[in-house]
Amino acid sequence: IQEITKVYRMGEVEVQALHSVNLDLYEGELVVLLGPSGSGKSTLLNIIGGLDIPSSGYVFFHQRDLTDANDAVLTRFRRECVGFIFQFYNLIPSLTARENVALVTEIASNPMLPEEALELVGLEERLNHFPSQMSGGEQQRVAIARAIAKRPEVLLCDEPTGALDFQTGKLVLDALERVNRELGTTTAVITHNAGIAAMADRVITMRSGEITSIHCNQAKVKPEELEW
Ligand code: ATP
Ligand code: MG
Repeated sequence: IQEITKVYRMGEVEVQALHSVNLDLYEGELVVLLGPSGSGKSTLLNIIGGLDIPSSGYVFFHQRDLTDANDAVLTRFRRECVGFIFQFYNLIPSLTARENVALVTEIASNPMLPEEALELVGLEERLNHFPSQMSGGEQQRVAIARAIAKRPEVLLCDEPTGALDFQTGKLVLDALERVNRELGTTTAVITHNAGIAAMADRVITMRSGEITSIHCNQAKVKPEELEW
């Protein structure tokens, strides 16, 4: 994204949520976004995923300028290339875990099997459970399985552990890390759970609508990157 600004207007009142933000997300990386409430994290993620449009600036996906794209292109980008995870799981209560995931795989062009996606997040024992029969952490992992089953290139997670205690949140973050490692899905996670900072390739901090720092996690070296 280049020089992204976002101004929300409500009658006479204007809120500038983002001030000229520049950021590259690299293929396959796991990025964590930290920052105080109101610093613009969700606004930034929503713009990256095409859920919201910037007031000015550019969003590129590979070489394509999405701010110049028509609705049909944007809709296809959102549907095929991006998976979203939110604080609340939004599962369909009358469907089992497998059926919640299968809803998505029916409309994708090259989907995973629901069982395969659920296995990846550690829920192979919960295929036939309904949401009401699962813990919050398990429900969130079903939501992750649903988001990845269509094999999106990018996974965007807005406080995926926000409704969970620290230990349960850790299981959800472990599932995200496994997805990133095994499928190579480019992943950005907004979180207050410091547990994932250690797993991240980069930690980005925001304040008052600006990126204030980017830390590369050099301790996280992948074996295939080592040269002998
Ligand atoms: P939190 O950690 O509380 O979720 P955040 O970093 O995600 O915060 P944003 O939701 O991006 O912050 O909000 C950034 C600023 O934009 C805030 O001042 C917020 O009040 C404002 N804002 C966000 N969405 C809207 C909206 N739809 N209409 C008007 N103002 C908005
Ligand atoms: Mg937010």
